[in-house]
Amino acid sequence: MIKKKERVLITGGAGFLGSHLCDRFLKEGFHVIAMDNLITGDLRNIEHLFKNPDFEFYHHDVSKYVHVPGELHYILHFASPASPIDYLKIPIQTLKVGSLGTHNLLGLARLKKCRILVASTSEVYGDPLVHPQSEDYYGNVNPIGPRGVYDEAKRFQEAMTMAYHRFHGLDTRIVRIFNTYGPRMRLNDGRVLPAFIGQALRGEDLTVFGDGSQTRSFCYVDDQVEGIFRLLMSDYHLPVNIGNPEEVTILAFAEEIIKLTGTTQKIVFKPLPQDDPKQRQPDITLAKKILDWEPKVSRAEGLRLTYDYFRALPREVLYEREYRNFDKYIY
Ligand code: UDP
Repeated sequence: MIKKKERVLITGGAGFLGSHLCDRFLKEGFHVIAMDNLITGDLRNIEHLFKNPDFEFYHHDVSKYVHVPGELHYILHFASPASPIDYLKIPIQTLKVGSLGTHNLLGLARLKKCRILVASTSEVYGDPLVHPQSEDYYGNVNPIGPRGVYDEAKRFQEAMTMAYHRFHGLDTRIVRIFNTYGPRMRLNDGRVLPAFIGQALRGEDLTVFGDGSQTRSFCYVDDQVEGIFRLLMSDYHLPVNIGNPEEVTILAFAEEIIKLTGTTQKIVFKPLPQDDPKQRQPDITLAKKILDWEPKVSRAEGLRLTYDYFRALPREVLYEREYRNFDKYIY
């Protein structure tokens, strides 16, 4: 007898992380339903999946009522703008997808009696006063600053998810994602890695914000997806950090990209954006312990794979400045 496939809904399925999750769950033998409103997501990330009979795509904004016919076994809520430039451009949409969107999906998970994992972020720690950041740190967030729309939506999302877990007994998971990179990041999303690689490929100078002494810790997407998959399949309900603890200053990172791409352009310094965290490094002791997970891909290897992807893109993509459905969704 043929076993019926388990069905998973992935919101933000046309985005960077969402599309990699679609690939992974199809590979694991699931039936995958991707949902996306395509503001920051892009069908080009999933067009290779449309011929797969176990893949479906719903063009829908999860901040509005979500309907999915049939059974669901898992929901992964990954719909959200996730770069500072994006959530500055669409602040209200960012607040809505983290709050109203999460509420809709928690409701759907109750209806379908299924497990739900929500994508949270290291931004819940704000500009952290504790280093590295472990899950028991409450954070240092400016609620009314430019990043507040993202940080507070994600903090609300965590609170709402725990409330559904405690009050309704819903089977929930929360992943706190630290800076992650890889193929399918949007070149124009303003994040530091596509910004630097895009600049190198266009023959522009690399823009380092501030003096470049702020740090980040970059996780390759395959490692991130593995951590998320293991967390979903675990029985742990409290938030878990997933990220790569290898920390680097942004200035040193720019130098790595210059070496990788062989660009002859130089580094130029621009003002540091407001509330830009000075340092960020995940403490992954918990993930190691409960998921037996740690990142495997070195930054040198991950950057090489990512650069190969960007280098192969059609040249016009290098000059796409704005995402396509922006005007439709400003509120
Ligand atoms: N950054 C930079 N130049 C750029 C884009 C970003 O120096 O062109 C810096 C930014 O100020 C921050 C770091 O790189 O300190 C990471 O920024 P990103 O937007 O990727 O994500 P964040 O970790 O701040 O959410």
